[in-house]
This record gives sequence, C-alpha cells and structure tokens, in this order.
Amino acid sequence: MRGIYSARWNVLLSKLPKKLNICGRVVKLRVTDMILNSSLYGEASYNPPSISLDPNIPKDMVFEVTLHEILHQIDEAHGGRFELNDDESKTKALAIALAPVIEQLRGYL
Ligand SMILES: [Zn+2]
Repeated sequence: MRGIYSARWNVLLSKLPKKLNICGRVVKLRVTDMILNSSLYGEASYNPPSISLDPNIPKDMVFEVTLHEILHQIDEAHGGRFELNDDESKTKALAIALAPVIEQLRGYL
C-alpha cells in the first residue's frame, strides 16, 4: 500500500547516508519512487551495487527494510552462500529478527 508521505519525513529519509560499505563493496543508497515492484518498499541491485528505498516507506519500517536490502547485498557479496537472494521469506524473517536487536544497541556503540 502506498500512501502520502510528509515533507518532513522525506527530509529525514534524505539524511540517510548516500552509500554504505558492505563486505568491502560501496553500495549506493537512494530514495526513489522508481521501485520496480511497487508492492515492496525496497530493492537491491547488484551491478553496480545499490539499495533503493521507496519514499512512502512507513517510518517504523525503514530500518527493517534497509536491513533486509543489506542482507541481500551481503548474500550477493558472498556469492549467494547464505541463500537469501532467492528466498524472500528467509530474508524478511532475518531482518525482522535482527532489526529490534540492533535497535537495542543504539546509543551504546
Ligand atoms: Zn528481498
């Protein structure tokens, strides 16, 4: 479902880093409504590596969706050894499990 997003939220999204180093690869991070599958809020591309985030992403899902796409990038960097790139449910489950755990470390690291 795609909704109207506030200008303020768009400003927050624009503060995300423009690139991440993931397993030694520079992965561009961008906010765009040009996501190919409109039922998803994020998309990973590999050549060149990039992560696209939909500006309509609900605020409480942005970390989980970003983590989901990071997991795809990690799998790609490792030649698919984690078997995540053809398994959306596994990737989703891992991101949902990891996101709140990492959130608990915020402020301590
Ligand atoms: Zn995915």
